[in-house]
Formats: sequence, C-alpha cells, structure tokens
Amino acid sequence: MHVCKTALTVLLVCFALAFPSSKRLWGVTPVTCSSPASAQPQPTEYFVSLADNIHHLAHVSIRFPQTSGTITLDMPVWNSLYQVRDFAANVENVRAFDATGRPVPVIDSKISQWEVIATGNCIVVDYDIHLDGGGPFGSQLSGTHGFFNWAMVLMYSAAARAQNLGVQLLDVPATWGMHDLHIMGEAPAGKVEQAVGVARSYDELVDSPVEVGMFQHSTFQQDGATYHIVVDSDSNDYDSGKLQDILRKITHAAVDWMADRPYEEYTFLYHFPRGHGAGGMEHAYGTAIDIDAERLHSSMMPVASVSAHEFFHLWNVKRIRPQSLEPVDYQRAMDTRALWFSEGVTSTVGDMLLARAGLLSDRQYLDRVASEINELQSRPAHRWQSAEESSLDAWFEDNAFYRSPERSISYYNKGEVLGVLLDLRIRQITQDRKSLRDLFQWMNENYAKQGRFFPDSDGVQQAAESITGESFAEFFHAYVAGVRELPYSEFFGFVGLQVAETTVRAASAGFTTTTTSPGAQPEVVSVDANSVAHRAAVAIGDRVVEINGKPATASIDDQLAHMRPGTTVKLRLTNRRGQRDVKLKLSSREERVYLLQDLASVTPEQRAHRVAWIHGDDENGGGR
Ligand SMILES: [Zn+2]
Repeated sequence: MHVCKTALTVLLVCFALAFPSSKRLWGVTPVTCSSPASAQPQPTEYFVSLADNIHHLAHVSIRFPQTSGTITLDMPVWNSLYQVRDFAANVENVRAFDATGRPVPVIDSKISQWEVIATGNCIVVDYDIHLDGGGPFGSQLSGTHGFFNWAMVLMYSAAARAQNLGVQLLDVPATWGMHDLHIMGEAPAGKVEQAVGVARSYDELVDSPVEVGMFQHSTFQQDGATYHIVVDSDSNDYDSGKLQDILRKITHAAVDWMADRPYEEYTFLYHFPRGHGAGGMEHAYGTAIDIDAERLHSSMMPVASVSAHEFFHLWNVKRIRPQSLEPVDYQRAMDTRALWFSEGVTSTVGDMLLARAGLLSDRQYLDRVASEINELQSRPAHRWQSAEESSLDAWFEDNAFYRSPERSISYYNKGEVLGVLLDLRIRQITQDRKSLRDLFQWMNENYAKQGRFFPDSDGVQQAAESITGESFAEFFHAYVAGVRELPYSEFFGFVGLQVAETTVRAASAGFTTTTTSPGAQPEVVSVDANSVAHRAAVAIGDRVVEINGKPATASIDDQLAHMRPGTTVKLRLTNRRGQRDVKLKLSSREERVYLLQDLASVTPEQRAHRVAWIHGDDENGGGR
C-alpha cells in the first residue's frame, strides 16, 4: 500500500497518472471509445498494438462499447500446457478510461483479476504485457515476429466469455504479414491493420493463435480441403517440397482413416528456430509446431511425427473431447484422468498414420512400438502409478523430481502402448472385422458430431464394448486404472509377434536428467554412487548447457547411452554457483532392452493379421 504524505508526492502521483510511463507507449495508436472505428462492432473489442515489439511489450486495449456497472476482467493462469503459469505476472500498467477519455479507477481485486466500474456506456481498459516465451505453448513479440496464444495475452470477462468478440492488430511493422488458424485468416504485408477477426467466444479465439512477421506461406488442396503451410525460419533450413509431400501423405491417410473431414481449411504453422525448439500444440483448425532447425538437416522424420500427432488431435481432444476438460477453467488446474487416451492414443494413431502413409516401414513401425514398451518398462514407477493417475498428475510435470523414472510414468508413453494393445484386442475379438479405427469413428459419431463430451475412460470402454459386443471391464480396471503388468504376449501373439527381453551393454555417464518444459535445458535428477559423474562432482540440480560444444537437449540421456563406452564427453554445466566444464569418460553398464520379434513360428493367418494391423488392408477391402 502506498499513502501520499506530502503535497509534493501527491503532485508527482497525479503527474504520473496523467502521463503514465510514456517512454514505453511511444508509437502506440491510442484506442478511445470512438477510434479506431469499429469495422464490425462487437460486445467486446480487443486491439493489440505491436509498436513496442523490440522490448517484447504488446499494448492491449479492450473496448466495451455498450456496458455499465462493474466489469470483472480475469487473466488465465494456464493455457495449452497442463501447467499453471500465471500469465498475469507479465501484465503491467492496467488503466481504464470512460467515453470522455477520463481515467476510471481500476482495482486489482484478486490474483489475476481486475475490477473496473463503468460509469457511462463505453469503457476502454488498457494494459501492457511482456511476451517473450518462444514455442507453440508460448507467446512472443520481438523485432522479427509475433506469435500469440491469445489466452496468454488477453484478459476476459467471465460474463461475456460466450459472446462474440472482435480482435484487431495495430502498429504492425509494414513488412510483416499475418496468418492465424481460424479467426483472422491472413493478411499480406502492409494490410495487416485492416484485418479484423470476429470470434464467437473467448474459447474460440484462444484456439486460434496468430503469427505476424515475414514467414513463408504455401497452400495445397487435397480431399476437398485447403491446407496452409506457414513457416517462420530461414528458408535454407528446410526443404519446402519435401515438407508438403509429407503433409499431403499424412492428411490424406488421416481423413481416409476417420472417413471424415470436419474443416474446409487447416493450417500447419511451424517455427524452425536455430537452437532449442521442440513441441507441438493442437488446435481445432490447425497446429503450431516448433522444431530445432539443426534436427531437420539430418531428417524430416521429427516434423512428420509431430505433425501426424497434432493433426490427429483435430479429432481426438479437440472434437472427441473428454468431459473432464469442459468447460475449460482458466483459473485453476483441472482434474482429468483422460490424457492417456487424449494424448497417448493420439500418438498410437499418429504412428499408425505414418505407417499407412508410407513414411515408416513395417520394421520402423514395430521398432517404435518396441521403444515405447522399453520406455514404460524401464521406469520403475510403472509398478505403482497408473495411466489415469499419470494423467491426473500432468500438472506436476514442471517439477524435475516428479519427472524422474522412480516417481512417474508418462501418460503419453503408457497411453500409446495401451492404444496399441486396445487395437490388437479389438482385432482379436472380431477377427479383424473391427479395430481402433472403428472405436474412433464410433466416438466421433456418438460424441463429437452430437456436440457431447465423452465421460473419460468410461466413455472409451463403452466405445470398445459397443463395437465388439464384449466386455472390456478387466482391460480398463487392470491396465488403465490399475498397474497390473501388461501381458504383452497375450496381445501380440495375434499378429505373430512376441516381446523379447535382452540385455545390451550401453555407455553410462552415471547420471540421468529430465527437462521441465519443451526446449528447456536438461536438469540432473539422479547421480549414481561411485560413477564417473559422481567422481566429477556432477550434482542433482545441475543443468546441462552444452555437450561437446553443442546445446544440450531433452534427448541428452539417449545421446549419451548411444555413445561407445570409453568415449570422453565434454559437458558445460550450470547451477547457482555458476558455470563449469567437466570431462567424463563414459563407463559401460548392462541395460535391459525389449524387442518386438517374430514368434518361433508364424502362421499365415498371423501374418495376414499383422499386415491388416499395420497397413489396414482389411479396412479398405470391404467385407464389413
Ligand atoms: Zn498431443
């Protein structure tokens, strides 16, 4: 609390109120009750000025042309990532003005909440927001581009959340164009300020992030739809022809698999930064994906994998949506046990689509399934944390200890394995007449297209039972809600495969890491006693900045495990005491590995089932 004590202080405070932080507002187009004129008047109008892009400051004005009484404005605490990130921390200088331009008091009434009392018809609320978080889950404004996930930028009025709203960008650099996934469409350089988007609700708006800058934009037509590819990167860092070819194959395979195409236009929005970049975020009419440009030089598979996963999300989670995530509560973490299905089984289908699109060979597909089994079995926590519990605890994933193998499994990982087993069980029961594809089509018809949300795991169980006519109670009780060891041979035998265990000698640095968010530096979470790392004083909490002179990424454990024992690696580590370099000579250790192999003898029927499972030949050949 600040109380004025002298006339001079009062004068200074009044002066500050009349000319608030003018330094930062230079070049910002003022928004008043009368200007800019409304192109399409809406109950709530947002104007976002990009004038101060080099300081990462967006200036937001919210105009309520027709309102009276108290307006309560909330800033979401989370969006897209299942992590509470308190976006209000980036907000400063909240002010309000009435129709005559006079300041109106603003009360910071709660954490992430402000109240303004409207005295006339119209009121404008202004604030600045610092945006410098890269990646598909972030929002960024810089001298080179802007990318906005609107829930991180725009406050909302809970009372008006379901009403129409308009959004317009101001003071956009003349060389920048704009593309968004659904609401604002696209505008070429110099025309951006004429673009006004109208959303039917705040929820719809925040599902439509926007990119502004000097990106590359191309389109292709397929299966009656228009696909946009928008890339913010150095055009030498990727092969645009190859990228389009991959996306054509994936989108066609998915539309064919679902026998559905619930959109006319869909956008793949990519950032390929030099350095850290990983992850994708799904939206109903597009996806935003970040991949380290360096990785693209060796292979386009990382783009294909993330794109297939995010594309299938347009059904699973965006339209086939669990009840536990609706309505979205922007003010607190939400309890959901459904992410093993909404995320994990999306990965199952993503890989399946890559195989059907011809982007993975049979062997590569089986190796991917085996590596997921390997990941699950190698985490001790699979014995006590279920797929549903892992989903419920998703919000802990910004905690490095939580992510350690002894503490948690991943709902992506176990969910992906469960998706494979569910597919095989459905095929086994119906002798290949039905599959995971029918389960998704059933859920699409019975929930998505009816405008209903499915009751989490119960809804998936009901779908499996409806299409097969058999009980899945034990499957869901033991493997989804429970932690019973997965009896792989009972499932894979149908396609002539077995899960074999073997041991290999792998290199060991004597420590393991986790990363708390995509693109973050890996953090050491365990150090083996008497290991090379232990002797070099590598400690829990150290972050690995570089490995052999290159930026360390989330895959550093894998990278080290695949080196030859005896190799010397140079690590740059950082902690609160500063940075230091260490050299470690990798030792060797025995590691248990799971492989998917042919049974001792594979029958022609089993081979046919395997072909149907990986390629879906049965599905397109009729007979159902
Ligand atoms: Zn996902």
